[in-house]
Amino acid sequence: PALKRQSLNSLVEEIAAIVSSQAFLKNIKVEYECVDNLPLCMLDRDQIKQVLLNMCQNAIEAMPGGGILVMKTGFLPAQKEVFIDINDTGCGIPREQIEKIGVPFFTTKADGTGLGLSISYSIIGAHKGRVEVDSKEGKGTKFRIYLPCC
Ligand code: ADP
Ligand code: MG
Repeated sequence: PALKRQSLNSLVEEIAAIVSSQAFLKNIKVEYECVDNLPLCMLDRDQIKQVLLNMCQNAIEAMPGGGILVMKTGFLPAQKEVFIDINDTGCGIPREQIEKIGVPFFTTKADGTGLGLSISYSIIGAHKGRVEVDSKEGKGTKFRIYLPCC
């Protein structure tokens, strides 16, 4: 990746602007909460943008009846990590599928490729970060991306 020292906050704002008009048409509200003075990270901007777009797209697809998509940034000083949360109030992921999401070509969608998350996970891996998923069926899903900061 082409790494440059930069802030995740501006990236989150940019993604919110990109997805909000599509979301609006689907009755989905897009919000973001960025903490001040977030430490900078070494990021390939285009690649991280791709990850956030993939995850926002999944969130939107999980809320066919509308809902709320919230992105948040935060800092974990003890771990020297920053994180971005992508929260939705959508359908959630059944427990038995949690291990399968992110496996190439795993999809539950009629027209899905099942590639968005696997590509996203490898991009985050190339940034020495990691992804955690917390989901409740019928309630919603939170993806948390951790990235080392400098
Ligand atoms: P695709 O979107 O083409 O199906 P992805 O790799 O992006 O492929 O996602 C794989 C699967 O993970 C999806 O088909 C869906 O079942 C599940 N998934 C991912 N994100 C969410 C989400 N926010 N809410 C519910 N399910 C999700
Ligand atoms: Mg997808």
